[in-house]
Amino acid sequence: MNFEIIAVGTELLLGQIVNTNAVYLSQRLSELGFNVYFQTVVGDNPDRLKEALRIASERADAVITTGGLGPTNDDLTKETVAEFCGLECVLCEESLERIKKRFNKQGSYMSENNIKQAYMPEGSIILQNNHGTASGAVVEHNDKIFIVLPGPPSEMKAMFEESVMPYLKTKTDGVIHSVTLREFGIGESQAEEKLKELMENQSNPTIAPYAKTGEVTFRLTAKAENVEKAKEMLVPLEKKVREILGDTIYGYGDNGSLQKTLCEILTEKGMKLATAESCTGGLLAKKITEISGSSVCFECGAVTYSNEQKIRLLGVKEETLKKYGAVSKQTALEMCEGIAKSANADIGIGITGIAGPGGGTDEKPVGLVYIGIYGEKVHKAFRFVFSGDRDMVRERSAMTALDMARRYALGIDFVDNSQK
Ligand code: ATP
Ligand code: MG
Repeated sequence: MNFEIIAVGTELLLGQIVNTNAVYLSQRLSELGFNVYFQTVVGDNPDRLKEALRIASERADAVITTGGLGPTNDDLTKETVAEFCGLECVLCEESLERIKKRFNKQGSYMSENNIKQAYMPEGSIILQNNHGTASGAVVEHNDKIFIVLPGPPSEMKAMFEESVMPYLKTKTDGVIHSVTLREFGIGESQAEEKLKELMENQSNPTIAPYAKTGEVTFRLTAKAENVEKAKEMLVPLEKKVREILGDTIYGYGDNGSLQKTLCEILTEKGMKLATAESCTGGLLAKKITEISGSSVCFECGAVTYSNEQKIRLLGVKEETLKKYGAVSKQTALEMCEGIAKSANADIGIGITGIAGPGGGTDEKPVGLVYIGIYGEKVHKAFRFVFSGDRDMVRERSAMTALDMARRYALGIDFVDNSQK
């Protein structure tokens, strides 16, 4: 089945927002084995949208629109799709009830305009929105499928996962099943390089990578007659991926994160962590405390930005700072030891570095970061030179620290991409 994506919104045409909806939809559709041959962006203009719908429906089996489902007058996608298919929009009681409930719950005023959001193309399959007001719709017309989704990415994605996926599964022979593996430690290009052969030789199941800062997610997807068969097909592939990527794979499933995995490991082992941060300014502690229940394994985090506080709060020696500087292996070693001892924690992490953009020298460039780890069986610091801007350097530092703590708690080796 061939798809075409139409993103509706004048903001997109003016370059005020980036069309991330098309990126997401193209990725998901290709994983599911559907072709996407064209993507279009059109403004909030019914005539031009109709023109886009006409062109798209001539060359694709299914058209997905995003945006323009809001309550205001310039939100016209649903009405235009209905008109294009020669359908009326009729009141959908279920949508109206859901919208009313939403406003009641929020205690906010529901305007007349919001009632417009409950009018849906007659005969369409209504996609309820559990994360916003606008309902979506699937219109089947003249052997073509029109799927109308809201613009806000969080609402669009949730609706795609919760409602469009199950619908599409009914349109394909058999079932589609995916598992997600999460990896940290080797970057996307390196991970892809390692999996290249495997990826190129697979059409079912498929492997699709997604990268975030330093972290890569691999979604393995199989199409088969039934779920059991699909799961069976994924077992050898998952095994191969795990063999190739080894212990850089830290998690499984869509809702994992490195910090969540770390907290689970520490909690299970009854270990406690304390952090001392300089260039990351508390980002590591923030990530850990994002996880509900982290109080069980996280003792404290100190942001020691000045030399004085590194000495006073962590017991870093004045001579160390004088001799090697605040950004040095020795300082990182004393920071992690200091915080672990003062917090009486099993693991201490110390981070010191130059996040930039200023402050770099030839000897100590921007992106230079030392991360120290202290515990009963370890007292080490690693040197990294992270690329990217200030935010990226800080993000990569915090993520690397999480991974070091994970590796130590599990008793596995540290990744050897540090430059000691
Ligand atoms: P609302 O009810 O919020 O008006 P809507 O379905 O009418 O939703 P739009 O008005 O088109 O959608 O867009 C709402 C917001 O969603 C935009 O301001 C933008 O932040 C985001 N958005 C819309 N389309 C896209 C897109 N293609 N990619 C990324 N973000 C988008
Ligand atoms: Mg809108």
